[in-house]
Amino acid sequence: MAAILGGGLGGLSTGYYLLKNNLNTNNNLKLFLLEATNYCGGWIKSIKTKDYTFELGPRTIRPRGTTGLNTLNMMQDLGLSEHIVPIKPDHPAAKNRMIYVNNHLHTLPSSFKGVFQKNEPFTKPLIYALFNDIKQPNKLLEDDSIYNFVERRFGKEIADYAISPMICGICAGDAKEISVKFLMKTLFEWEQAHGGVVKGLVRSLFKSSTDKELELTDLAKKAQEEKWNVYTVRGGLETFPYTLQRYLKENNVDIRMDHKVDEIEFIDSSTVKLKNKAGNKIVASHIYSSIPAYSLAKLVQKQHPDLAQDLDSIPFVTVGIVNLYFATKASLISPAFGFLVPPIENSPILGVVFDSCCIPDQNGTVLTVMLGGKWFKEKFGDNCTEKQLLDIALKEIKSILNINDVPTAQNVNILEKCIPQYVIGHYERVDKIRQYIKDKNLPISLIGCSYDGVGINDVIYSAKTQVIKDCT
Ligand SMILES: Cc1cc2nc3c(=O)[nH]c(=O)nc-3n(C[C@H](O)[C@H](O)[C@H](O)COP(=O)(O)OP(=O)(O)OC[C@H]3O[C@@H](n4cnc5c(N)ncnc54)[C@H](O)[C@@H]3O)c2cc1C
Repeated sequence: MAAILGGGLGGLSTGYYLLKNNLNTNNNLKLFLLEATNYCGGWIKSIKTKDYTFELGPRTIRPRGTTGLNTLNMMQDLGLSEHIVPIKPDHPAAKNRMIYVNNHLHTLPSSFKGVFQKNEPFTKPLIYALFNDIKQPNKLLEDDSIYNFVERRFGKEIADYAISPMICGICAGDAKEISVKFLMKTLFEWEQAHGGVVKGLVRSLFKSSTDKELELTDLAKKAQEEKWNVYTVRGGLETFPYTLQRYLKENNVDIRMDHKVDEIEFIDSSTVKLKNKAGNKIVASHIYSSIPAYSLAKLVQKQHPDLAQDLDSIPFVTVGIVNLYFATKASLISPAFGFLVPPIENSPILGVVFDSCCIPDQNGTVLTVMLGGKWFKEKFGDNCTEKQLLDIALKEIKSILNINDVPTAQNVNILEKCIPQYVIGHYERVDKIRQYIKDKNLPISLIGCSYDGVGINDVIYSAKTQVIKDCT
């Protein structure tokens, strides 16, 4: 019997791949999924009314690359193809992504042509960044912050106005702390091996691609052919974990809600006990843990304090999410994905998503304001209330977007420790953690956003990889 710890997307995907493996190998491994709350889906939560959809966590999924296509394969297999709403390259949400700098909104270039033009706040066309890369000597390093790397290779403006806000948008983090390997592993390797990104790119053109082939479903092929930028799910992203949960239930996975695990006791290499405070025990042959690393640290602390210490040293940040609905006939915003605010601007907000432009079936203007992240405590202190966040969000959209209306509906949430930060040394730390588990022969696999990528695609792909690894 295998136990899946946590019912977020990581845990649900693990159940999905274990079931597929059972089917492929004619195996009948009994599966349990233990979730602390009364909801499966983790951070993915949607509020859907007849007039608007609020996404309280993630809202869009990228279709590109092996991990993106793999998610689309899963979507089709679950019967969700009809619910997928793509944002194609000609959609305003694909073309218009903005940054807020010096009291103005600036649209970032989205076409090849745009790279040769001067776009404010940049003082030169972006193509000049490549000349900078060619001129710069390389610096031999094990790891570096993504900010340092980009500043060294492409210049300070790109680091401040392109990469720093992008990191805020992806993980609400500080580019000066996040590892270059988080987003630019290949570019960093090119610098280290060949002395620069352009030099590495040129050499790579003469090498055959080693990308693993993935068999594609019709949905994934369509996304590739139509060059989707991102996509959402009609009825709210919550439809996705809900459908996965139903699939697991239909295939006899024993899903136990309101079942918080408080301690893990490893007996031998194929026996492990999961205990809770009420004194209940579940004995399994293997655990797939998809809970945040800091939560797992508490559960293994008693038997494995060194492992717990490494798990606990993966930092997480808190994000404030303010969803706003304005029941106005005319849109209050220009058509765009939204805007991000570079940290150098020292704003209380990280950015605003224009949901009525990217999420279907919105009857008015819908916005989501994101606040805090790496700077949550510094900006809002320890006892910030939801009302304070709402007031700040309304003040900022009034000043930046000139919206003076009172929202018709709103929802505010403070998501405590919701996004892991892959700071410098993260990948080496994860290797060390997995090596410890291997050396001690512990029957546990690590899945979820703490280890192999923070986005939806990464979490699903990590579940698939770990299941394949453990079952072969
Ligand atoms: C605000 C926000 C916006 C985001 N936007 C995007 C986006 O647009 N696109 C994208 O690709 N990704 C986005 N992400 C990332 C994406 O949401 C995550 O990658 C994904 O949801 C993580 O899933 P998970 O299963 O790893 O973790 P979680 O969702 O954290 O799930 C873990 C589960 O474990 C349970 N649990 C914890 N401790 C225990 C215990 N002791 N016993 C039992 N159960 C326990 C929890 O209750 C929870 O249900 C966003 C994340 C956030 C927070």
